[in-house]
Amino acid sequence: MEITISFHEMLRPLLATSFRHQNTIIHTLGRRTSIKDAIESFDIPHTEIGSILVNRNAVDFSYLLCPGDRIQVSPLAIPVDPCGESLLRPTPLPHLRFLVDVNVAKLRTYLRMIGMDTLYEADLTDSELARLAAQKQCIVLSRDRGLLRRKIIEHGHLIRSQNPTEQLAEVLSYYGLQNKINPFSRCIHCNNLLQPVAKQEIMNDLEPLTKKYYEDFSHCSTCKKIYWPGSHREGMEQTLKQALQMHMEWMGAYSSRKE
Ligand SMILES: [Zn+2]
Repeated sequence: MEITISFHEMLRPLLATSFRHQNTIIHTLGRRTSIKDAIESFDIPHTEIGSILVNRNAVDFSYLLCPGDRIQVSPLAIPVDPCGESLLRPTPLPHLRFLVDVNVAKLRTYLRMIGMDTLYEADLTDSELARLAAQKQCIVLSRDRGLLRRKIIEHGHLIRSQNPTEQLAEVLSYYGLQNKINPFSRCIHCNNLLQPVAKQEIMNDLEPLTKKYYEDFSHCSTCKKIYWPGSHREGMEQTLKQALQMHMEWMGAYSSRKE
């Protein structure tokens, strides 16, 4: 059976090159299938989709296609709010929490650096990772389209860039995090919120120069790592500054494209 499908221009870069410049694609299906499977047969994970119209009516991912259906597929509107309810995602997330895949591992450090609740498990299979995302109610960040196609993952984003600072900018823009960040409030190793600690209590663990020049310290109650505003923090502040700059430039380009 034949259907007609058109992807919004923001989604087209994800299509195979031969489809990228087509406003409308005539597609033949071997059997009756769900709209989710039909869209994903074009290699676009359902996590990227914001709305689907079939013959001008909004449908959810379970809709079974009929011969002659005309389909319009749109991306999520940026900034994406995973805590809001929608037809495609009827169970909104209670909080913003990310689960970072190993193929974008540096993002876990950067997201924790800006205070975002961020889980990371390097040794899980794709199916275990997907289950964890559902159990812990996380947004999955990955470059793996196969992982994001899994039905159990409701909230996720296919990271486009291969550069970690750009990836941070991408997540900042996509989820509108710029006003929600709380830099240096979490342990970058454990994801725990840091607690202030008196200098006297940790005096013996400090290097002589750190002891001499710094007064304010915090620590992680799990790994006991001590944090202070030293040179490692300056490097991270620089990364955050660059990411925010990229975010501003992209959002400027995005708004002018939308108009
Ligand atoms: Zn820790």
